[in-house]
Amino acid sequence: MLIIKDIYNLHTYLNAYKDKGYSIGYIPTMGALHDGHGSLIEKSHNDNQKTIVSIFINEKQFNDTKDFEAYPRNKGDDYNFCEKHNIDIIFEPNTEEIYPEEYKSIQNSHFQNILCDQYRPGHFDGVVTVLNRLFSIIESDKVYFGEKDFQQLKIVEKLIKENFPNQKLVPVSTVRSDEGIALSSRNSKLSKQQMKDFILFQKEVIQFIASLDKMLDLIEANKKAEEFIKSYENFDYFEFRNASNLSLEGSLEDARLFYAIHKSGIRLIDNLET
Ligand code: AMP
Repeated sequence: MLIIKDIYNLHTYLNAYKDKGYSIGYIPTMGALHDGHGSLIEKSHNDNQKTIVSIFINEKQFNDTKDFEAYPRNKGDDYNFCEKHNIDIIFEPNTEEIYPEEYKSIQNSHFQNILCDQYRPGHFDGVVTVLNRLFSIIESDKVYFGEKDFQQLKIVEKLIKENFPNQKLVPVSTVRSDEGIALSSRNSKLSKQQMKDFILFQKEVIQFIASLDKMLDLIEANKKAEEFIKSYENFDYFEFRNASNLSLEGSLEDARLFYAIHKSGIRLIDNLET
């Protein structure tokens, strides 16, 4: 396994792969790797001869400095994790490598003012800026993204369609703990009690979804969601949206439930099939 920090060296190896006709799968991450990332990696191994993971905590996508500083970092563990998962290359650039002085940010123009975009202004501008850069550097055949970050997945779909038509986007289902919690790097920041409360909440959410008629109109379903969430605290959003265009149109059977919850300064997101 190679750990490469600079674009020049990265290109040397990637060009050698491309000369040999190997297909390359790429998984962008912010580190603190877990089995959710592992699932993306395994999918890439199935589809490609070479798999590359990038680890870059992109400050531009944190609209809150405290959140950036508190983001989990565990370098050594990440290297071991990648070794265990037979990664060919870890690309771990520094900020100067990704954002040279002349590099201009780009702006997201899709799925705006809803869900995470409403509560984290500028977040998706940071996401598309870094991905635009990373995709241009790596030029992989396929990129792997988790459904865990569903709005991000939708925005990346647009970015690829517009700027990287030769790169295929592969969505991967959310990996969950036995209790139903979506695996997330941020989960490591929860205390035992907070995790217990979160598991209980998640169970209640799943029961709530199961109790609804699948033919229910989303406007009606969201009235019920509003009622359900009244007894819980610290939510940015908790609502059903159409899974294909994130609108409020259609019925529950075409929707997912999206939520963002704060637990003592830690922001957790998930989306659940109905
Ligand atoms: P992150 O390191 O959090 O930026 O995530 C990197 C990639 O892993 C993104 O495409 C995420 O959607 C994906 N991911 C994170 N958690 C999970 C999970 N529990 N299941 C599947 N994919 C995930």
